[in-house]
Amino acid sequence: MVGLADCNNFFVSCERTLNPALENRAVVVLSNNDGCVVARSNEAKRSGIKMGQPAFQIKDRIQSGEIIALSGNHLLYRDISLKVHDIFRRYAPKTLDYSVDEAFLIMDGIPESELKAIGEAIAANCWDELHIPVTIGFAPSKTLAKIVSENCKKRGRRVGVLVNVESVRPVLQKMSISDLWGIGRRLSKRLYASGVYTIGDFADKDLWWIRATLGINGERSWRELHGEDCIELSHVQTTLQDSVSESRTFPEDVDDYDYLRARIAIYAADCSKKLRAMGGACKIVGAMLQTNRFHQERGVARPEGFLRFDDPTDDTVVICNAAISILERIYIPDIAFKRAAVWLGEIVPKQSVLPSLFDSQESIKEKASRTLLMKAIDNINISPGMPVLKLASQITQGHPGHNDGYSSSFQAPK
Ligand SMILES: [Mg+2]
Repeated sequence: MVGLADCNNFFVSCERTLNPALENRAVVVLSNNDGCVVARSNEAKRSGIKMGQPAFQIKDRIQSGEIIALSGNHLLYRDISLKVHDIFRRYAPKTLDYSVDEAFLIMDGIPESELKAIGEAIAANCWDELHIPVTIGFAPSKTLAKIVSENCKKRGRRVGVLVNVESVRPVLQKMSISDLWGIGRRLSKRLYASGVYTIGDFADKDLWWIRATLGINGERSWRELHGEDCIELSHVQTTLQDSVSESRTFPEDVDDYDYLRARIAIYAADCSKKLRAMGGACKIVGAMLQTNRFHQERGVARPEGFLRFDDPTDDTVVICNAAISILERIYIPDIAFKRAAVWLGEIVPKQSVLPSLFDSQESIKEKASRTLLMKAIDNINISPGMPVLKLASQITQGHPGHNDGYSSSFQAPK
């Protein structure tokens, strides 16, 4: 059996962990440039707001206070995403991270009779530890698990287990073919022309017809609907590895700018190293500070900023300088912070980065030699943990009670 664990209204649920005043309100999260709706609370869904709806269409309702609209806080979402996926891993022999808020749970060797209790435990844990509502559907295939979890969500149930594939037929008959995993809008249109409107219609077709009409991907979906688990994540687009991040909670609250600056530089350097290890280059860097949630009577402060590069980069120096410039912008004097993070986003394969039209011959040469320099640094810092070679900005005077090897005193590499 396969489970699909899916966080409900994920971005909105993340925002609610920081601001309880958002509970029971119609809340939407808007896309990067505040262009359109990318997440909706149940209240917002009920009030008729559509996924992807442009923000200007609901401007009046936002201004009147009926709907609360928030800009995306993607470092927060990534942070919580990692924790949610960690909880999933506690309960399943194997998990496949599918997106920022979904994972497939491969339950090989676990009796069907135990799945409901396991699902309940996962949902209870995510709620108790993180305050994130999660729905889990179990079925013989990934596609059916997705369908079960969708239906549970609609009915307000946390866990569903589908053992008998035939029993789901009436449900499939009511679901539009465009909602079938892996069948896009374009393919749906082609299917409408053949009288296939619902997922049930699709499952009722003969396999040879599906194969002839839609090829191997259609065949896999058909088999999945009949209970055969055959879609691998390499067949579909996953979206988790679109960012790299580093964050730490400090041993104590810190208001010392130099210390925070060194932390941000360290995390930026670590992220850059990870980025190069995966052969990527990033277009965006983000940095974030957060106050201690237990010491703040006025709620949690969480200043965050972004910087977009003209050309994708994997250069530690460029990324560190960018992260530090964000810190300068978001730092609030006299406030003690408990946590800092750096995040790299919009990652593209490094080989696909072409010299820009405006690059001079000089700067192309400069970039090539910087690539070699980064390679040399990575070779010297090959072992995990404390780097041997680091930027001056990564070094701090240390902090009381915090000896992590990044203090300015000389340490011979072991
Ligand atoms: Mg979700």
